[in-house]
Amino acid sequence: MSAEDAFPTYSIVGNNFGYLGRPLRPDAGDADVAIIGVPYDMGTSGRAGTRHGPQGIRAASSNLRWEERRWPWRFNLFERLDVVDCGDVMFPPGESQVMVDTLEAVVTGHLDAGRKLLALGGDHFITLPIMRAMSRHRGQAVRMVHFDAHTDNEATDETRYYHGSMFYHAPREGILDAECSVQVGIRTEYDYDNHPFTVIDAEQVSRLGTDAVNGQIREVVGDGPVYVTFDIDCLDPAFAPGTGTPVAGGLSTNQVLPLLRGLQGLDLVGMDIVEVAPCYDHAEITSLAAATLGLEFLYLLAANRD
Ligand code: MN
Ligand code: MN
Repeated sequence: MSAEDAFPTYSIVGNNFGYLGRPLRPDAGDADVAIIGVPYDMGTSGRAGTRHGPQGIRAASSNLRWEERRWPWRFNLFERLDVVDCGDVMFPPGESQVMVDTLEAVVTGHLDAGRKLLALGGDHFITLPIMRAMSRHRGQAVRMVHFDAHTDNEATDETRYYHGSMFYHAPREGILDAECSVQVGIRTEYDYDNHPFTVIDAEQVSRLGTDAVNGQIREVVGDGPVYVTFDIDCLDPAFAPGTGTPVAGGLSTNQVLPLLRGLQGLDLVGMDIVEVAPCYDHAEITSLAAATLGLEFLYLLAANRD
């Protein structure tokens, strides 16, 4: 399937507008950035429901539309960046491999057209096909800044669609450079003696402070293409209750926002925000956090064009 063939598989979600009030249309045209929703949650191990994540994030993002220059940025985002919300990637229920193939083709289409990508999940498994497209487009393994309570590199052989083993398979596929990748906010068990990624765990973030952590992140990822993947359970359940596998002792929004802004100037190829499950949310806390992270990423892309 060619990338262009994949576009008609989008459907338009919502009534009049997309994420942050952007135009909602399948054809991104000359846009600099494409937003896509990926309502897939069959890779989930805990509570399901992230298939409603894109809708929840779009709805909460309506609260972020009033500020022309979002603090602390000093420019109008959409004067620098043309952003289109292309709606959700569609696939038949139960057809995980169709989702994988379609998503990779859709992402490839956007990259070939010169667009950056912001993907709204869906469970974390969606990162794997996106990363394949990113890596193939660049002709090299990408580097990753990964925010999560979990390292998601469980060794699996036969479990092909699972949100806990993408980062076991990605380095083996040659699409992810583990040595130049960092995992931030981790607070669950992993193989401490034989782990391929740099880990800055949740306790270290609090102890070191965000400036020092920003320095460490930049040191690890260096100058190559960087993909940002943000599992919302990196945040403490107080800041993101609406997710499938919440873990106490996480980061606050006041910690992750400066960590994200600290990526300014890096060669950012795209970002996803995954594991938002609105059915467990309260007062749109989680969806608003996710919508805000996406907005900050767009500001990062705009700032990089300066
Ligand atoms: Mn997680
Ligand atoms: Mn994850």
